[in-house]
Amino acid sequence: MPAGILPDNPWNPVTDTPRFDFHCHSLASDGALTPADLVARAAAAGVELLALTDHDTLAGQAEAREAAQQAGIRLLPGIEVSVAWDNRELHIVGLGFDPDHAAISALVESQQQARTRRAERIGAKLDKAAGLANSYRHTIRLSGQTAPGRPWFAKMLVAAGKVRDEQHAFNRFLKPGQSCFVSTPWVTLEDAIAAIRAAGGVAVLAHPTRYNFTRRKLRRCLEQFVAGGGQGLEVLTPGLNNQQQALLAECLRDFPLHASGGSDFHTPKQTWLELGRLPPVPAEMPLVQALMAV
Ligand code: AMP
Ligand code: MN
Ligand code: MN
Ligand code: MN
Repeated sequence: MPAGILPDNPWNPVTDTPRFDFHCHSLASDGALTPADLVARAAAAGVELLALTDHDTLAGQAEAREAAQQAGIRLLPGIEVSVAWDNRELHIVGLGFDPDHAAISALVESQQQARTRRAERIGAKLDKAAGLANSYRHTIRLSGQTAPGRPWFAKMLVAAGKVRDEQHAFNRFLKPGQSCFVSTPWVTLEDAIAAIRAAGGVAVLAHPTRYNFTRRKLRRCLEQFVAGGGQGLEVLTPGLNNQQQALLAECLRDFPLHASGGSDFHTPKQTWLELGRLPPVPAEMPLVQALMAV
């Protein structure tokens, strides 16, 4: 596949595949919209096939399913799992699995436990580093979750007047290398893929260009991802440059992987993103839809 095969022309797909979005977030994790509002927004944007992929939780799925029925669009079960690989954190999107399968429940349970412990520790560190009291409790209240992720701590810090904005909170406290970063015992790449596959789903490596991998390292990662049962690579995403597109096209050609796509929409404040607004799908590109009978 030549470079530049994914021109940034979102509303004019090459194939007649239904408009889809397989990566987005709701208030059930770190998104700004309720699952129902997210689904309504997707439908209004012309999305016909949607997966809500909140971080390590299925808490939004039931509400999203109901809203999708009302809006007359199709919803695939989805999740974005934080995993450990080679001493770093990767994100795996699971699609089309049985949400009631024991392997998925166990995966979510163990990730939520890890997230709860991490949130307690982040809260304790922030109390000291930012001169706050009860950071954890405040962030629970703000998020409505017992295991709030880092974006919620960032929002709490903004509300407490300790940082200018959420990005500042990450840069000053929350990102790796900063004083309140807490490394987390995420599930391994292999175990996450195995759980998704056991539940009948497809495992997709999310946003492969966001890990600062060299080409060589990305290929090593994909070898292990495929060996573990991974089947999808998220290549239809907004904002890739020509070089990144060429690299992903090469990976699709060289590995037995199907293409997935998603906006990674979190909030309407990201005005440069919209649900379902993806690069056009090249006619010859194998899509993960083919693996799921959708
Ligand atoms: P968590 O899963 O709790 O570690 O939170 C990860 C989420 O925080 C990601 O999905 C992004 O939405 C957001 N995020 C991660 N890193 C950054 C960063 N450096 N700046 C701003 N947001 C970030
Ligand atoms: Mn997120
Ligand atoms: Mn991610
Ligand atoms: Mn995401």
